[in-house]
Amino acid sequence: MALIYCRECGNQISDKAERCPYCGMVMYNIPPPPTYDMMTSDEAKEEKLKKRSLIGRAVFILGLICWVILGNVDMDVELLIVLYDIDIIVLCVSCAISLISEHKLDKLRRKKNK
Ligand SMILES: [Zn+2]
Repeated sequence: MALIYCRECGNQISDKAERCPYCGMVMYNIPPPPTYDMMTSDEAKEEKLKKRSLIGRAVFILGLICWVILGNVDMDVELLIVLYDIDIIVLCVSCAISLISEHKLDKLRRKKNK
């Protein structure tokens, strides 16, 4: 025996009951409402990708700012080279994350419009 919710009063009742014992509502076998995840998996995915793309762009811009700052500070050349190397990696990774997210978003939107 499984428990279902009465559509009328919201009380939990047996799925075998013909009538709700609380409010007398005639019961039919109604499938349970779809979960939030099932309804909005595409929307949730889209939100996640949007966020990722935004973060990628923000990090990319930060990397560019660091690049400009590095060009204008006086410091040990070897340290500067290391910092530039790190900055290049950050720029590449953030750019890739942003582009891949945008690409996936595009695919998702095209699928939705079909
Ligand atoms: Zn009821």
